Amino acid sequence: MSQPANLFTSSAKVPNQFIAEVNGVSIHLKREDLLHPEVSGNKFRKLKYNITEATSQKRQILLTFGGAYSNHIAATAAAGKISGFKTIGVIRGEELGEDLEKTLQENPTLRFAHGCGMEFHFVSRSDYREKTSEAFIEDLRKQFGDFYLVPEGGTNEFAVQGCEEILTPQDAEFDVICCAVGTGGTISGIINASEEHQQVLGFPALKGDFLKPEIARFSKKNNWDLITNYHFGGYAKVDEKLINFINDFRSRYGIQLDSVYTGKLLYGIFDLARTGYFLENTHILAIHTGGLQGIAGMNKVLKMKNLPPILTYDESSI
Ligand SMILES: *Cc1c(COP(=O)(O)O)cnc(C)c1O
Repeated sequence: MSQPANLFTSSAKVPNQFIAEVNGVSIHLKREDLLHPEVSGNKFRKLKYNITEATSQKRQILLTFGGAYSNHIAATAAAGKISGFKTIGVIRGEELGEDLEKTLQENPTLRFAHGCGMEFHFVSRSDYREKTSEAFIEDLRKQFGDFYLVPEGGTNEFAVQGCEEILTPQDAEFDVICCAVGTGGTISGIINASEEHQQVLGFPALKGDFLKPEIARFSKKNNWDLITNYHFGGYAKVDEKLINFINDFRSRYGIQLDSVYTGKLLYGIFDLARTGYFLENTHILAIHTGGLQGIAGMNKVLKMKNLPPILTYDESSI
């Protein structure tokens, strides 16, 4: 097997950027979106020790799961290519496999992953729900051989270990750390690396109450809470208010947000600050977890719904 390239050995340091003061509350943004052009933000952190583990187990294949616009699928495909692994993506949506050429033409995420060499296995939504069952995984092993399995969204103990590296000792000056939450791996690592005097607030990008026990399982402290009213109707759901906020944020601060995670996070933080949720003089550090690859696909969906596009620096994504 080829020696892994130095994807994860370079010093993974990003700047904290001052954004705004709202109602006496200062908001900084940790630019994890700048970590790597293809393995962006928290997916870089979550894959790091999984790839170390796969290497030490002498596996040559990474297999993982995701939806058709998944940041995790794109990141795993790119990381696999750079680190010398074959990658297999089990993708939700049987119909997408029927005419692969057409799917690749229409779906920028899958086109990118395919370009990185990822092989797809499309499954129905009901099969996809079975993805953690032993029988389902046994079937995959028969078909694809001895792979290293990265769970959906990448969350496991190795992912949490990687996310513990998001915070640096200098970040101890902040009172509140805020991040978007999908499966809970990222916030768990941040909680573990936080100081006792800090509060960690998670902003779930989806509805549902399964997250608290999941976070409690992976994290070692109690200085955290979830703010559950900024999901905008559910996972990948958006409205015009959110899109306007993301476009306004970009023109004001020159920073691109995505509509699935970081847009909802920043919308929530600004809204809470404006309405007096935080004490005066609170110093907030928000984590920009990346996810910008998903914008191009989201804009296709927005167009079909007659909603305005998310403006980007890359005109081809509109
Ligand atoms: C995947 C993702 C998250 C959610 O991370 P979890 O560890 O699953 O909670 C947050 N932000 C972005 C941009 C993501 O791609």
